[in-house]
Formats: sequence, C-alpha cells, structure tokens
Amino acid sequence: MIDKTAKILDGTRIAAEVRDEACAEVAALGELGIAPRLDVVLVGEDPASKVYVGSKSKTLAALGMVSRTHDLPATTGQEELESLVDDLNADPEVDGILIQLPLPEAIDTASILRRIHPAKDVDGFHPENVGLLQQGRPRLVPCTPAGVMEMLRREKIEIAGRLAVVVGRSDIVGKPMAMLLLHAHATVTICHSRTRDLASLTRQADILVVAAGVRSLIGPEHVADDAVVVDVGMHRITDRETVERLYPGDEKKIAAFEKRGAVLAGDVDFTRVLPIAGRITPVPGGVGPLTIAMLMANTVTAAKLRRGL
Ligand code: NAP
Repeated sequence: MIDKTAKILDGTRIAAEVRDEACAEVAALGELGIAPRLDVVLVGEDPASKVYVGSKSKTLAALGMVSRTHDLPATTGQEELESLVDDLNADPEVDGILIQLPLPEAIDTASILRRIHPAKDVDGFHPENVGLLQQGRPRLVPCTPAGVMEMLRREKIEIAGRLAVVVGRSDIVGKPMAMLLLHAHATVTICHSRTRDLASLTRQADILVVAAGVRSLIGPEHVADDAVVVDVGMHRITDRETVERLYPGDEKKIAAFEKRGAVLAGDVDFTRVLPIAGRITPVPGGVGPLTIAMLMANTVTAAKLRRGL
C-alpha cells in the first residue's frame, strides 16, 4: 500500500501559507494607509474566465485588498481596450492590472499585454519583466511558475545540480518555469510538441514539470523512480467512463463527479504515476491554488515597488 499523503505536494496547504503571508503584508501596508488594488479586465462571456475572475476577486477581498473588475462585452475593440489600459496605467490608485486571457480573437493580445505598465504587470508578461527574469533579476514573475518554485522551496526539494525537465514552452508557463529552475541552478531540458522520444528525456528528470495542455500525456513510462512530478495541466472531464478509467476504484472522485457533473484532471496520469514518483502534485489541489496565491503576492509586491518600499 502506497503512503499517498506522504507523496502528495499539497498545493492547497502551501497556498494558504503564501496567502497568510500576503495578508500580514497587507495589514502592515494598511498601517501606512495603503490598500493594494488590483484591476482585472474581463472581455467577453467565457464562463471559465468569469469563474477565475470571481475567485480572484474573492481572494483579494478576503486578504484586505481592493479589487475592481472591468467587465467588457466580447465586441470590445482594440482601441477601446488600449484606452482602458492607458487609464489604468495612469491611475495612481491602481497597483496591478490583470487582463484575463484568452481575449477575443479580434484583439491583438500581445500588444495589449505590452501596453500594461511594467510596474503594474502582476502577471509578469510584459517584455521588461520577461527580460528581468531572463537576466536573473526577477521583479514580477508569472504566477504559475512562481507558484511551482514556491512549492519546491517550501517543501525543501533540492533543485541545485539536479536535472529538471519542463514539458511545454509557453510564455505563460513553460519558458518562465525553465528560467526559474535554471536560476535555481538546475540543469534544465525543455520539451515541446516537436520533441522526439519525449519519454527518454522525461525519464531522466529528477524534477519533472508538465505544462503541455494534453490530458494524461505523462504516464509511468515517462517518470523515473522517486522523481518529483509537478502537473500544471488542467482539464475538465465530463464523462463518467473517463473518470472511472483515470481513477479506478476511487469512490471520492466518482462521488465528486456525480455531484458536479465534472472533475478536473491534469497532464499527468496521476493514478499510474503515483507509485513511481517520489513527490507529486494532484489536480485539483496542486499548482492551481498556488497560481492564485502568487497573484496575491505579486499584487502586494507591485504596491510596494511602486512606492519604493
Ligand atoms: P500552451 O500555451 O498550449 O502550451 C503548451 C505547450 O506544450 C507548448 O509549448 C506545446 O509545444 C507543448 N506540447 C503540446 N503537446 C505536447 C506534446 N504532445 N508533447 C510535448 N509537448 C507538448 O499551454 P499553457 O498555457 O502553457 O498551459 C499548459 C497547461 O497548463 C494547460 O492545461 C493549462 O490549462 C494549464 N494551466 C494551468 C494553470 C494553473 O494554474 N494550474 C495555469 C496556466 C495553465 P509547442 O510549443 O511545440 O506547440
């Protein structure tokens, strides 16, 4: 019988620690009359985006920060969005600006993200923040990879000198993840959709971070004994057969599916990788909660940086 709990990297618990620390910082800023404020821009009606924005706003409020949501119709044009970003950049009350992605296809997303003032760029996507990260002088770092590093650090997982393999090379997760691991002195391999013989590379990893957006891409044949496996992927499963196949005999999962009509799963086949991995993140309850917690931490950082604190 595997001691599942000893292996699990509990993102929910670690995220609570990060949030508690952010909360203490917010209280200290409050003494100086500062309440960090994050403005979230939501364009269109994407239901998942609405849920994400709602949960971000709730968490901000719970930590004593101010949040404003700018809810715009899907028909919003490039110029209108640019002018909102300009207004938020100029508004001295606003510490952080977050554009909820994806934006409608008609919008040039890269140009909107470039327009955000780098000091208010809590997502860390602006070229100036990307460049600072690349130079090893991180300021505002993308929340998901920052959350993964926070998890590794707090769980005292050794990084220096170890082989880290990152599956995925997106600007949001894969690339900044690889850069953070490199700066923490790991030897880093980045894999992507053109990588040949993925398993032969991932099997070498001491630390395997998977952000490919392909459900169950990583099975037991991809993982070395005792490896640390971090699953960034997030997929909604809405058919019972798949749930039963992914989590055989897991009555809790089936009950969750019956209750909500869906369960989340990752890029890693959790059930089959668990016996091999040394440590592993579950989905849900792994990287996801840390992403939101790091957004809180970045908002506090932005509020302090702007005031030279
Ligand atoms: P993305 O922009 O679609 O990038 C996916 C990356 O994976 C690409 O670099 C792609 O390679 C690579 N890839 C795709 N199929 C592959 C394969 N078969 N083998 C190896 N590499 C492959 O996705 P993303 O924004 O980075 O997100 C990745 C996943 O993480 C998604 O499931 C997303 O929902 C999830 N996510 C979760 C959180 C969270 O908070 N938990 C946050 C962000 C994202 P190419 O570059 O060659 O196309």
